Amino acid sequence: MKRKRRLTKLGAFLIGIIAVLAVALIASLGFLGYKMLQPTEPKTEIKEEVKKEEKEAEPVLNDREQAYAKAHPDLSIEEVQKQVWMHLDQEPYTHMQPVEDLDSMLQLVNKYYDLPSDYEPSDLISVSSSGENGTVYMRKEAADAFEKLVQASLEQGFILNACSAYRSYGYQENLYNNGVANYGQEYADAYWTRPGSSEHQTGLSVDIRMDNDTSDLDAVRNHPSYSWLLEHMHEYGFILRYPDDKEDYTLIAPESWHLRYVGVDAATKIHENQWCLEEYLYYAQ
Ligand SMILES: [Zn+2]
Repeated sequence: MKRKRRLTKLGAFLIGIIAVLAVALIASLGFLGYKMLQPTEPKTEIKEEVKKEEKEAEPVLNDREQAYAKAHPDLSIEEVQKQVWMHLDQEPYTHMQPVEDLDSMLQLVNKYYDLPSDYEPSDLISVSSSGENGTVYMRKEAADAFEKLVQASLEQGFILNACSAYRSYGYQENLYNNGVANYGQEYADAYWTRPGSSEHQTGLSVDIRMDNDTSDLDAVRNHPSYSWLLEHMHEYGFILRYPDDKEDYTLIAPESWHLRYVGVDAATKIHENQWCLEEYLYYAQ
């Protein structure tokens, strides 16, 4: 009797083990089946790629862009976004914002971004000038670069110098106010920038003379070495700030004589792409 009971106990024990193993096996199979039904990772990536393509094909326009696109149905979406980024959907001088980084050589001063009335760069030094406006000053980095360009010009066989460079807020205020008094505001706005919006206040701009021809600022355009200057000034960090074909972006009529220092890297990119400063800053953001 004792032996039989022991065998029964062993049997029950074995049946228990088998039962546990069977449950474990079923659970494993169930888990595997569940895993196989789950989407794999590459599928998720493809989904995200499709989403991204859809997004690129149809950019979401903000309210200002939508309004501008409606008013200018001839413009591409990319052009609409670019022009709204430049604030061209807003009337000049109606939405002024302060220039953020006064130390930056890339600061943007125009009819949407202006300089404080008490701003005068602290590192102004004199540069080679035609003498017609007395001593002419630029910020040190720009002045050093300008002197290198003056030297390179001499090696090309012509004299380059500055007619005018840094101009104070007060000077521009007088210029603009006299214009308004004598010719009316519309005329004054076409010929002079309002105080704070003149790039000359940055100390990074210079109106040039070639071979001391002081007849007219635009006379440089007819100088035989002007094309050399246009091709090489970026190597010294300078750009033509108001090119003939960029008035729609700069809102300033072409100025063949007005150079702006931005540094060699930016000047080279601007030269290679035939951009104006506004476009460079748009693509660099
Ligand atoms: Zn100028």
